[in-house]
Amino acid sequence: MAVVTRFPPSPTGDLHIGGARTALFCWAFARHEGGRFVLRFEDTDRARSSQSSEEAMLEALGWLGLDFDPVPGPEPIPRQSERGDRYRAAVGELLASGDAYRCVCTPEEVDAMRAQARAEGRNPAYDGRCRDLAVGPADPRPSCVRLRVPADGATRWDDLIAGPSGQDSQEVDDFVLARTDGSPIYHLAVVVDDHEMGITHVIRGREHITSTSRQLLLYRALGFEPPLFAHVPLLVDAGGRKLSKREAAVSVLSLIHI
Ligand code: GLU
Repeated sequence: MAVVTRFPPSPTGDLHIGGARTALFCWAFARHEGGRFVLRFEDTDRARSSQSSEEAMLEALGWLGLDFDPVPGPEPIPRQSERGDRYRAAVGELLASGDAYRCVCTPEEVDAMRAQARAEGRNPAYDGRCRDLAVGPADPRPSCVRLRVPADGATRWDDLIAGPSGQDSQEVDDFVLARTDGSPIYHLAVVVDDHEMGITHVIRGREHITSTSRQLLLYRALGFEPPLFAHVPLLVDAGGRKLSKREAAVSVLSLIHI
C-alpha cells in the first residue's frame, strides 16, 4: 500500500508551531515510506479564511522544507470551498440509502430538548425525533440532514499513537451532516476529501480524536475503506494549556523573520 498523508490547515492565520509539528510528522512519515504528502485548505469558514493566510502557510511550510505533492486532478491543493458539489453528492447518497434523514427541528427545539436532557441528568443529545418522519425534499420547512447513527454497537479503531480507542454508539447522537442552507459540516467534508484524496494515514492533533468515531460512522455509511488514524499529543504552554493559534509568538513566520 502506497502511503498518502495529508495536512489540511484552515487558512485563517499564520501556520503556528503546533500545526507545523503535525505537518512534520505527516511529511516525515510519507517521505520515509516513499509515499506522498498532500495539502488541502479547509476554508469553509469564508469569513475567516483568506488568500494571504494560504500564502503565509505555504511560505512557512516551504521554509521548513516540508515539500508536498500535488493532488492528481485539476487542483494540486484542493480547497473545500470549491468542492461543495462533492459534499452535496455524498449527502444525497446517504439520504437515498436511508443512512441519513432530513430533520425539521428548529434550533430552539433542539436547544430545549438538550436542556431537558441535562436537567434530567441524561446525555444532552439530539433525540432522533425526526428519524422516522420521512421528510422529503419538497417539504417547505427548513431542514438539515442528520446521520442515522446505529442505536447499538460501538465504533472502535486502533489508533497508531493513542492505542485502542472508540466510543459506544449510544454516546453519539444523530449529528448534522448538512445545515439548513445545504452547507456541509466538517465531519462530512473531511471524510469525503480524505477518501477521494486516497489518504491512507490520518495523522493529526489529539484535539481531533473525539471526531474520529463520527468520521468512522460516515466511512461506514458511505461504504468507504477508512484510513488508519494517529493522533499526536498536543503542544502545551508552561501552564499546560494548548498553544493557541492566536498567539503571534508561536507563528512560524515570526520565527523566519527574526
Ligand atoms: N482543518 C483542521 C485544523 O486545522 C484539520 C482537521 C484534520 O486534520 O482532520 O485543525
